[in-house]
Amino acid sequence: MADEPESLSGKDLGPDPYTLLLSSLATCKLVTLRMYIDRKGWDVPRIAVNANMYQEIKDNVTHTIIDCDIVFPDPVEEEKKLRLQEIAKNCPVSKILEGDIKVRSFVFRDGETKKIKYANEEVTVVWKPEFCQHSTRCWTQLPTVFKPSQKKWIEPDGASAERVEEQVKRCPSGALEFFYNKTEAGADQVDS
Ligand code: SF4
Repeated sequence: MADEPESLSGKDLGPDPYTLLLSSLATCKLVTLRMYIDRKGWDVPRIAVNANMYQEIKDNVTHTIIDCDIVFPDPVEEEKKLRLQEIAKNCPVSKILEGDIKVRSFVFRDGETKKIKYANEEVTVVWKPEFCQHSTRCWTQLPTVFKPSQKKWIEPDGASAERVEEQVKRCPSGALEFFYNKTEAGADQVDS
């Protein structure tokens, strides 16, 4: 459940999306620190992370700054605090947020359109070129079956039927369908 506050026309039924983003970061720092502390056998019973985000516009460019204040409510030696600051800086979610990040959005379509069939004796994969949003997901995750540089670019023989079916289900656009030939739906597919 997520929502916006009433001041932004929401019903305040849950945290807003920015809070969820900061929760993920704060949680990752806590988990990373806890694992490190336990591995070292240090006596640090409690950790708190306060995360806040603000934005500045400079030269028409919006800069987002996220501050994470790490607090140890119990006494901890200064040297350990500094080491833990370094560990927290490099938690996995920090690396994602500070790295080269791209957000892609896809929509799943299931209407009627042109279909091309790629079959072996057991299964048929149907590709709908007009629906394909070129996510690259199929051919980067299962290159033995999906080969965009080839004319016959889908070869169902390249992996087990179960693996091909699993990959087809990961297509975000509805451009791929999978059928076992012995089923009625499989027998109905158009010829390429
Ligand atoms: S996963 Fe689907 S949308 Fe992405 S390239 Fe393959 S067929 Fe196209």
